[in-house]
Amino acid sequence: MILVKLNQANFEYDIYSLIKAFYPRENVGVTAEDKTYDEPADMVFEITYLPDSVRIAGKGEYSVDEVFAEDYADRIETKNRLKRKLYEILAAHTKQALPWGTLTGIRPTKIPLKMLEAGGSDAQIAAHMRKEYYVSAEKIALSTAIAKRELALLNRLDYENGYSLYIGIPFCPTTCLYCSFPSNPVAAWSGRVDEYLRALEREIEYAADAFLDKHLNTVYIGGGTPTTLEPAQLERLLCKVKGSFSFAHCLEFTVEAGRPDSITKEKLSVLREQGISRISINPQTMKQQTLRTIGRRHTVEQTVESFHMARALGFDNINMDLILGLPGESLEDVESTLKQIQALAPENLTVHSLARKRAARLSIEWEDYKGYQMVNTQEHMDLAMDYAARMGLEPYYLYRQKGMAGNLENVGFAAEGMAGIYNILIMEEKQTIVALGAGSITKRVFMDGQARRCENVKDVAQYIGRIDEMIERKKRLFEDKA
Ligand code: SF4
Repeated sequence: MILVKLNQANFEYDIYSLIKAFYPRENVGVTAEDKTYDEPADMVFEITYLPDSVRIAGKGEYSVDEVFAEDYADRIETKNRLKRKLYEILAAHTKQALPWGTLTGIRPTKIPLKMLEAGGSDAQIAAHMRKEYYVSAEKIALSTAIAKRELALLNRLDYENGYSLYIGIPFCPTTCLYCSFPSNPVAAWSGRVDEYLRALEREIEYAADAFLDKHLNTVYIGGGTPTTLEPAQLERLLCKVKGSFSFAHCLEFTVEAGRPDSITKEKLSVLREQGISRISINPQTMKQQTLRTIGRRHTVEQTVESFHMARALGFDNINMDLILGLPGESLEDVESTLKQIQALAPENLTVHSLARKRAARLSIEWEDYKGYQMVNTQEHMDLAMDYAARMGLEPYYLYRQKGMAGNLENVGFAAEGMAGIYNILIMEEKQTIVALGAGSITKRVFMDGQARRCENVKDVAQYIGRIDEMIERKKRLFEDKA
């Protein structure tokens, strides 16, 4: 265990995240209290905030004692200086450089995006990201290229009058090993899905009424797995959405079909008839053995069949999600998956780095899986980039999560004109997203860039029973002038 003792509570989470990025498999404790941990610490740091300086002292493996001047005039600057100094110590000791440097947040593209909006040049962005955050040349180039594409796509939106709609279907055929989303086994809930839809319809009615004067720009139905709904239920939901909102300003309508074991021709036909412009069919891997390990009860053949079925029905914008760093997968396995995806030629490809989330089965049952190799390196990401390029797909959105394999990133690639705008909106907080369904989070974005949120309860039964309260929460969020 690595223990960091502070003389006062300040920047604990930033310190924790940076150390965790260097030591992903170690337990890390950061505390300003005299806290005791069950595990003995084999590395101890003491960070002392002094009146005009900060001292970092290491014991055990890290025998360092460094003091740097600090005037505390700007909290963000203080945080960045502290992270840089800590990074230098950790990088020197581990002989490792992190691709994203000291950036531990989930949206590294925010920095180049903000600088581009202010008229910054590529050279200015590169100098800033290198000097302030120690970001590698590859990641500077990637995030700047993505920020430019984001900017071009976001320019199509009307921030002031536009908004987006998210609808969550929190049911799945089975629960994947790494899942941290609202997901419930559909078999156990099949008797109450209609009740769930009724509650959703109440929220849809509220949103349609409250946003009557605004322009609906994008719609995303995710989850969970929306195609766990029966064809008639899917039709009921889509007809309700189509009948409740004006689609005159809508740029895209995505349904995340997701799991191939939930997709049928009948369901795809319903999506097609209702004018869905973009769907996702997510293999995660094309290696059968891994699918079994991660608890996805579908076959590689089902993925291929679903894809061909969607094509035959006329879907011309299909996304496929992959995860790198899955248990037991080698670089050759990843390449084999990418080759099979290339043969299908989707218009969108989203490449995730496996993230170990606290609530996921992977963390809860960690003892059973920690013997597996779960590797994701820059080489894996480069391979994915290379295949995406061969498919004619360009990177257009990027985000990071806590506990990601290899401390890398998730990247969305798309063919020209096929990018999912909603994916950028959810990351960049540029437009209000009204989110309906259990576990969904509504985000109200103000014109000055500030955002405020309100959450729906995650538990499906609670959501159904407390639907009036969920609507009230949104009313309060949107009526509040502040
Ligand atoms: S399909 Fe997605 S939402 Fe459903 S269990 Fe798997 S990761 Fe979770």
